Amino acid sequence: MNERARKIVRVKARGEVVRTLSEVVEEGLEISILSASVTPDSITAELAVQAPSEEHVREFLRTLRRFGLEVKELEKTLVHDEETCVHCTACHSVCPTGAVVVEDHEVSLDESECIMCGSCAEICPTGAIKVASRKEGEE
Ligand code: SF4
Ligand code: SF4
Repeated sequence: MNERARKIVRVKARGEVVRTLSEVVEEGLEISILSASVTPDSITAELAVQAPSEEHVREFLRTLRRFGLEVKELEKTLVHDEETCVHCTACHSVCPTGAVVVEDHEVSLDESECIMCGSCAEICPTGAIKVASRKEGEE
């Protein structure tokens, strides 16, 4: 399978955000809503944007900005603590993308498939897996 480009972004818009988003979605682009909060005059949402290429993602973000949306790119990473993981595979059962791999009863992560949705962290009984913000300068 070809690797697709992924970017986690926070979008803040006022007004007709749903119509705006639907107008700029192009073929081959997938958007997952990770979280959203709504106030009487604004909607703030974290989105995982996946597309066939980095340029495709960038063009999508440029388009959102042209529509007047505030867009902030978020750097997130998946952290798995091997010491506290009991390999119960609960995270595997809830992962929507196949980023949690189980082989010989051992759990490992394929971060290239991860959309940072946090479902694995929510279900983990030991706190062994979490989505963290990547600090500036870290790889
Ligand atoms: S849910 Fe937590 S303890 Fe269970 S396999 Fe996943 S990371 Fe390990
Ligand atoms: S955050 Fe966890 S559940 Fe969500 S895609 Fe990544 S590995 Fe899967």
